[in-house]
Amino acid sequence: MILTGVELRLRLLRSTVVAVLLVSQVTVAAWLAPTLASGSVIPAAPPGPRLTTIQRGLERVTAGVRVRTAMWMALVQTVHGRQDDLRHATATMRQTPKHAPGTAATLRQLRARVRTDQHVLNRLLPSWLAIKASLHADYRAIKALLRASRRVVKATLGGGPGERPSAPWFAAWPVTVHADRTLQVCPVAGPISLTDSFGAPRPGGRFHEGNDLLAARGTPELAVQPGVVVPDPNTLGGNALILRSATGYSYYAHLSAYARSGFVPAGAVIGYVGASGDAKGLIPHLHYEWHPAGGPAVDPFPFLQSVCP
Ligand SMILES: [Zn+2]
Repeated sequence: MILTGVELRLRLLRSTVVAVLLVSQVTVAAWLAPTLASGSVIPAAPPGPRLTTIQRGLERVTAGVRVRTAMWMALVQTVHGRQDDLRHATATMRQTPKHAPGTAATLRQLRARVRTDQHVLNRLLPSWLAIKASLHADYRAIKALLRASRRVVKATLGGGPGERPSAPWFAAWPVTVHADRTLQVCPVAGPISLTDSFGAPRPGGRFHEGNDLLAARGTPELAVQPGVVVPDPNTLGGNALILRSATGYSYYAHLSAYARSGFVPAGAVIGYVGASGDAKGLIPHLHYEWHPAGGPAVDPFPFLQSVCP
């Protein structure tokens, strides 16, 4: 079997995580402690400092989400592997004749395999449940912080997307355009929670071709490069759009509303965060894809990290 560098790293990560989970439930408990954050603890302050406090809270929780998601994925793979092995060993045991000559050793080995699989699965179950519970707590904290962000959006920009002029929002959340970078500005102008979920499985055998930037509904979305905006409404993406630039194209999905189309400079408001399309009922977010040279999507995470908070 030939393993790519990424696969090798994944395997290494998986075995490390699982080893730690098996050895020390104490370490696990420390890693799992959800970062506490609540929208209600954010003091009444002018919009700028409030948004900064919300962003700091989101970064704290998101750092925990990144660690726990990696642990979760490693654990899921290991558990599924053990479950498959258990099923396979049990089926083979059933098919092996009990009293035929020479099968005693085989049956002994199979029984030992089943015992080991069951033992490992039993040991991993508490971690499985604990990580799940912590991730739930993390997302509750993120939702609370985004509710606080939503209150600032409403007070500054109005309840409906783009209801009021955006100048006071950008006074509170200044934006810098970095003309020398691949993506010149963060596509969401406001507090966000960003994790790298590129390549994660999605229903229907698809995979996640972008990153999700969780944010309050109505937060302005910006053109990451100078280019041409073309609305592309569709079932999955809801209010989606394509921004074509000199170096490739970006795909923005789940907007609550469009702001403008045609040629735009980098940093122009082109829409507002929402949960349209198949994001209905989920935390509002921008699904962002980057297609260099118009080809297949690449993981935009490093580019987003260089311009997003
Ligand atoms: Zn997405």
